[in-house]
Amino acid sequence: MKNPLKYVRPNILALAPYSTARDEFKGGDISVWLDANESPYDNGLNRYPDPHQKELKRHVAELKGVRSEQIFIGGAGSDEAIDLVYRVFCRPGEDNVVAIAPSYGVYSVAAAINDIEFREVQLGSDYSLPVNRLLKATDPRTKVMWICSPNNPTANAFPRADIARLAEAFDGIVVVDEAYIDFSDRGSMLDVLDNYPNVIVMQTFSKAWGMASLRLGMAFACPEIAAIFAKVKYPYNVNGPTQKAVIEHIINDDITAHVDEIKRERVSLAAALEALPMVRNVFPSDANFLLARFDAPDEVYDYLIENGVIVRNRSRIAACEGCLRITVGTPEENQRVITLLKDFKK
Ligand SMILES: *Cc1c(COP(=O)(O)O)cnc(C)c1O
Repeated sequence: MKNPLKYVRPNILALAPYSTARDEFKGGDISVWLDANESPYDNGLNRYPDPHQKELKRHVAELKGVRSEQIFIGGAGSDEAIDLVYRVFCRPGEDNVVAIAPSYGVYSVAAAINDIEFREVQLGSDYSLPVNRLLKATDPRTKVMWICSPNNPTANAFPRADIARLAEAFDGIVVVDEAYIDFSDRGSMLDVLDNYPNVIVMQTFSKAWGMASLRLGMAFACPEIAAIFAKVKYPYNVNGPTQKAVIEHIINDDITAHVDEIKRERVSLAAALEALPMVRNVFPSDANFLLARFDAPDEVYDYLIENGVIVRNRSRIAACEGCLRITVGTPEENQRVITLLKDFKK
């Protein structure tokens, strides 16, 4: 078993975190709160929230089948956890990271912000995971490997065995971004966390859970890494109304019906797109979007906008030439796209 703490920056290992008033509060039957210089006038928002999000973590732990001590909660969506990965493991100007390409753009932007060299390794044919080339791209200063599965924008999930092989062979941290995992039949890497202490799994409430507006992201890791994230994050990084709202949605919502409908619609939308002469091919999807290759992507993109429909133009990304990324919407929305595309005249 790898010791994940050996990848942590020395200054972060040595860090004594800021201690908030509510960190020092050890519990007890308190009715008068005079420790945090808050306003005493109750308007529902006047108290600082729990900096450790204990109740929220209890619900997330139950939902995901992990332990609270393995959870980090981010209040700026997954972006906060992505940035923390750099700040915790990568020494600016010295270390580097390796990532698959094409993939989610935030990894490289966060690398640039943190002054970390970003090494891209193109996916293999059919967007397969290039395990050997990823490993070859590493050197002793490679601290992190970014794997997005299901991958954005290619839509496919990678075999769990391939990701596990990377975790075994790479002497560093493997981050698996599972933002779209609820739409995939491949299964999450969450259940291997105890076997691979150098793996961090990221998920979010922004996609299948329908709470993109709240900005709540999650990272799951061994307790040692989760504890380091907790000491580096801003103290009150998840606000009180968000903690409360997410707990209520976890308790009250069942996302199964919506996820099942999106998966059914994904199949029918892909078939309808493939039947159009203007579409060269539609890539297999484990996510809530389709990547489709068009003969004239820019014209189609503009035409859809003129008709009130926005998709993502990915046609200028290497290995996605000609491609538009289309989120699966409601049955009516998907039908509208197909009807419009059938009427498209070049
Ligand atoms: C949408 C998405 C996320 C989620 O981002 P949030 O900041 O949590 O909303 C994370 N990773 C990938 C690859 C995504 O496409």
